[in-house]
Amino acid sequence: MRLPEAAGGRAAPVEAGAAGQRRRPAVFLDRDGTLIEERHYLADPDGVVLLPGAAAGLRALRELGYALVVVTNQSGIARGLFTEADFHRVQLRLEALLAAEGVRLDGVYMCPHHPEHGGPCECRKPGLGLYRRAIAELGVDASASLFVGDRATDIEPARAFGGRGVLVRSGYGAAEARRLAGAFAVVDDLRGVAALVRNLPAGDGATSA
Ligand SMILES: [Mg+2]
Repeated sequence: MRLPEAAGGRAAPVEAGAAGQRRRPAVFLDRDGTLIEERHYLADPDGVVLLPGAAAGLRALRELGYALVVVTNQSGIARGLFTEADFHRVQLRLEALLAAEGVRLDGVYMCPHHPEHGGPCECRKPGLGLYRRAIAELGVDASASLFVGDRATDIEPARAFGGRGVLVRSGYGAAEARRLAGAFAVVDDLRGVAALVRNLPAGDGATSA
């Protein structure tokens, strides 16, 4: 599903669609354990806590020209643990915290499904459905984009699109980094993602992970 625009208003207009028009890179961000503290099936807005470096990292990535797009699996909805309305309340809290830090998201894409609770779908990460929608709707240059999260499922889509996957050590990331053993770039937090991008050689923005 595509959520209404972030609290800060619509994303800036982007030329997209027809061949030859400019598309912008995006950073596709996992939510739990990447932007905010990992809480098992978060349904309470009071439980939303920005991770260290999240706001600073997002500001830096925006200044570097990246659209900020959250892509999140929320199977707690399919499991009946919370509702879409709960998710929206959490989202509003997240956007308010980010706005207080001068950060506005360009898009939020959420999968409420789980294969064992209602059947398979194309949108649950590492499925590509939500990314494809975001790429089309926001005019994203996927091959120049970053796929960031604390689990392999957040960063594996980079391979399909030719972008760059970056694992953060927050959330489940530290354990995931040991398991993946060098398959992807690993940084501490979103500030580290911005630093990684700044240090890329010129023209290397589309290199696969
Ligand atoms: Mg996560």
